[in-house]
Amino acid sequence: MPTINEILAGAAAIAKGMGVTVKEMLNPVLTDDYPGAPPKFQQRYRGLHVLQRDENGLEKCVACFLCSAACPVQCIYIEAADNTGQARMSGGERYAAVYNIDYSRCIFCGYCVEACPTDAITHGHGFELASYNTSTLIYRKEQLLAPLSAGTSGELQLDPPVASAPAGH
Ligand code: SF4
Ligand code: SF4
Repeated sequence: MPTINEILAGAAAIAKGMGVTVKEMLNPVLTDDYPGAPPKFQQRYRGLHVLQRDENGLEKCVACFLCSAACPVQCIYIEAADNTGQARMSGGERYAAVYNIDYSRCIFCGYCVEACPTDAITHGHGFELASYNTSTLIYRKEQLLAPLSAGTSGELQLDPPVASAPAGH
């Protein structure tokens, strides 16, 4: 048979617990309703990378390989190519013809972003990377490039192509 003191202590404990519950019920809800609604990220969140473009729509990446050199797990693969007089993809002498990131190895440390001299590579807020097939975790430049803004083409035609003489003349 519980004593009166034990009954009072039990009632006090229940009242204390209910007080916490009621207080939390009155606070704003912090839980995201994902996947019912898009999650909210802090600005500093390091998600899927974005290869940025400049105001003309050209790729900011000039294929200097500094991000690749800074990556502690060597998951960035780049093949450089020269811009030509006829077509320019970036603002520098070269551009990345191939730019792959292997997300089965990336640890989202941000070293590549810190190393980039042109702010070409940044972290976005993409996070839905899970896959049962690791080969799909190698993201190509085309998947990482920022979308073109209205009125830009992503390529500058500098010199008009030289017209070749018709055959037989
Ligand atoms: S975030 Fe880190 S691990 Fe991922 S690609 Fe950049 S440097 Fe490499
Ligand atoms: S993303 Fe930046 S650091 Fe990496 S190759 Fe391009 S310009 Fe260089």
